[in-house]
Amino acid sequence: MPLGGTGEIGMNLNLYGHAGRWLMVDCGVTFNSPLAPQRNEQQAGGGQAEVLAADPAFISAQQQNLCGIVITHAHEDHIGALPQLWQRFNCPVYTTSFSAEILRRKLAGSALLEKMPIIEVQSGATLNVGPFCLHWLAITHSIPEPHALLIKTAAGTVFHTADWKMDAGPITGRAFKPAVFKRLAQHNITAMVCDSTNALREGFSVSESDCAAALHQVIKAATGRVVVSGFSSNVGRLISLARIAAKTGRYLALLGRSLNNMVGAARATGYWPDELTVVDAGHIGYLPKEEVLVIATGSQGEPRAALSRLADDNHPLLLLEQGDLVIFSSIIIPGNEMLISRLVEKFNARNIQTLQSHNTALPIHVSGHPNRGELDLLYRWVQPQIAVPVHGEAAHLAANATVAKAAGVPQQLTGLNGDLFVLAPTPRLWPGFAKTGRIAINSH
Ligand SMILES: [Zn+2]
Ligand SMILES: [Zn+2]
Repeated sequence: MPLGGTGEIGMNLNLYGHAGRWLMVDCGVTFNSPLAPQRNEQQAGGGQAEVLAADPAFISAQQQNLCGIVITHAHEDHIGALPQLWQRFNCPVYTTSFSAEILRRKLAGSALLEKMPIIEVQSGATLNVGPFCLHWLAITHSIPEPHALLIKTAAGTVFHTADWKMDAGPITGRAFKPAVFKRLAQHNITAMVCDSTNALREGFSVSESDCAAALHQVIKAATGRVVVSGFSSNVGRLISLARIAAKTGRYLALLGRSLNNMVGAARATGYWPDELTVVDAGHIGYLPKEEVLVIATGSQGEPRAALSRLADDNHPLLLLEQGDLVIFSSIIIPGNEMLISRLVEKFNARNIQTLQSHNTALPIHVSGHPNRGELDLLYRWVQPQIAVPVHGEAAHLAANATVAKAAGVPQQLTGLNGDLFVLAPTPRLWPGFAKTGRIAINSH
């Protein structure tokens, strides 16, 4: 039963129930109408995003029945609400080392750091949590250590994909391995609970390695400073940019707290290659312009992030000038169109070039989610009895179900947050089983 993330993008929270016990998979946040100023702008500066989580009342009211929380990967829509909501669950958290590192960094300075039992699981491990036997399957996505889960119970087996794509060159971690997923057919999978984000897109997603090649091509041709803005959690992208800096004779610097935090976490967990250096951002302003490559936060136009300050020419460490280039290695998250176009206009008014992914045929940004071709293949390999599309709005879920049907999955269960998806013994949907809603939480 999803409490969040099914019928919407963001704040994923899924519950699996068996033998009177529950297992939670992910506990994420979403941003209210992304980054738009709140109507009641009492805070100085305004423009603050309101952070929301799924209302966990259904499960917190019976926390004694909750035997564990699994975090599949460290994206905010999967992990972001855990620091604020965990007290209501008060049970062990199972995740792999990179996600555990991100979680500990979120808890730093809070009493929860000592209180929350974080159990680090090895990729490929099998572990019993209450009546659930969990097997962690490494998959590829857009952050280190994404994992799918095989959840076995006496009543049946669920394959929970979490967020994924088929990436033969993911930069961090191992390449996607078809054989691992082809073998799942032998497990007689009752249901495959699957990411629907890009179910409306035909074909296949583009590899992170192709994105690296595209960024290299663009940066190699640049003559002035280059600033790249994207999603901080994409450590593979950050590593690609560090390698491009080395190849093009530029020094790499990071502007923005979340970038420094991610690179720190990647270093602490062995994901950052030792030979790739990052210079102190305080030095970058003194270097010749053709030797500067900066990664900056704020690709969504966040008013207080580094990129906005560069656009306003009031960043304390770096001033851009005519002939410099700003690359958006990102997408425009719906709702942020105005903020981003204002940012682009400010740069262009100062003859600073900008490049967004929709301005070029080169893949300067690639998604971490599966297109229809990938969904089709995975359904054909796994051969579940039931497809349960999650992680998407209603249109994405419906499109995912259509792909599943065409791929020969006998049954599709499409529902929304709060619906109980009965998977065994007789599959059916029980709409509105639990009350759902959204609660505001403080951002970390
Ligand atoms: Zn997600
Ligand atoms: Zn994700």
